[in-house]
Amino acid sequence: MSWRQKGLRFQCTGCGKCCTGGPGYVWLNNEETEAIACFLQLSKEDFLKKFTRLVRGKISLLEDPKSFDCVFLKKNRCKVYNCRPKQCRTFPWWKSNLTSFQAWERAAKECEGINHKDAPLISFEEIEKQIES
Ligand code: SF4
Ligand code: SF4
Repeated sequence: MSWRQKGLRFQCTGCGKCCTGGPGYVWLNNEETEAIACFLQLSKEDFLKKFTRLVRGKISLLEDPKSFDCVFLKKNRCKVYNCRPKQCRTFPWWKSNLTSFQAWERAAKECEGINHKDAPLISFEEIEKQIES
């Protein structure tokens, strides 16, 4: 039986911690790039110039060089929340956080929503769906 068979507790508190600290990378694929550009009413080219950088041939959002805040983090809120990239949407249901109980507990040290006392229990099935999404 998987250690997460009985489900896991998580609810985002909106603390914004996962959108800062680093250095880190928020990767964008082509669809995500176009979706955020469209949301911001920018051409894809302008969006890429203004908000992204190329890292090892891949597109990543810019971050503040001192605070490491994501370029879209404003007052602890995501400015592009409705079209935020998959990497953000699926946190904390990343394979790397779910490989073992220890990995999940490590993630919980960084994210106060994991194992939060008021968080609902997310079922095994729902977690599996999120991993695949
Ligand atoms: S660190 Fe966790 S609780 Fe805080 S904003 Fe990110 S997902 Fe939500
Ligand atoms: S795009 Fe939004 S959710 Fe993702 S890291 Fe940046 S501020 Fe956070």
